[in-house]
Amino acid sequence: MTGARATAKTRAKAKPGGRARATKKAAASAAGKRSKRGAPKANHAAAERKRAQDILRLLEAQYPDAHCALVHQDAFELLVATILSAQCTDVRVNMVTPALFARYPGPGPMAQADTAELEGLIRSTGFYHNKAKSLWGASRRIVAQFGGQVPATMEELLTLPGVARKTANVVLGNAFGKNEGVVVDTHVGRLAGRMGLSKETDPRKIETDLMALFPREKWTLLAHQLIFHGRQVCAARKPKCAECRLAELCPKVGV
Ligand code: SF4
Repeated sequence: MTGARATAKTRAKAKPGGRARATKKAAASAAGKRSKRGAPKANHAAAERKRAQDILRLLEAQYPDAHCALVHQDAFELLVATILSAQCTDVRVNMVTPALFARYPGPGPMAQADTAELEGLIRSTGFYHNKAKSLWGASRRIVAQFGGQVPATMEELLTLPGVARKTANVVLGNAFGKNEGVVVDTHVGRLAGRMGLSKETDPRKIETDLMALFPREKWTLLAHQLIFHGRQVCAARKPKCAECRLAELCPKVGV
């Protein structure tokens, strides 16, 4: 034992409560180290929220008329159009739905649809066999379980055949005015990655990241604004970074 160590030990022994004070000091020092380590993380999170706020402000200014591109009159029509929009453009869906809704005005008539006729009407949207099954199954369940009305909760919507979280978010946000989540389609997923808003590739995880960064009351519109930006500026193949108003806020991940 060195002389210095021996002296310190002797002092701690000599003073009543010396050991307790030493333990407190050690705990305080460890807490200090932990909070120092946590501080940069907290600062980073605050900076990211501020950046998200600024991005939102610019998106709102640039796309004040952002809206759902699927033409619909009510929740059922929006549900049908959204199911049809899988792997298909909204423009194509909007070409198909007028005749479809005229032939089957509501879940009752669609639940009674002849499969071949239904498939024929939606054929050009692709995957028409599966989509027809979903439309027919969802219509039947809406009639049998929900009194002919499209349900207005996430939990109930997810029980409909062909309806996953993205479709449910579209219906809840646009037909019922409920911000339950953020629609993450191909545009929103791509932009979230490029703008450094999420490092995830799974749509559900991207959605969770966006929900943490943006205020709830903005979720539905945010998705439309990102989709507008994805179509007009931040295209998949050739993003127009040089003329993008968000360029100063965007790390351009992978671009
Ligand atoms: S700067 Fe480029 S990558 Fe970033 S949002 Fe604009 S177009 Fe997309």
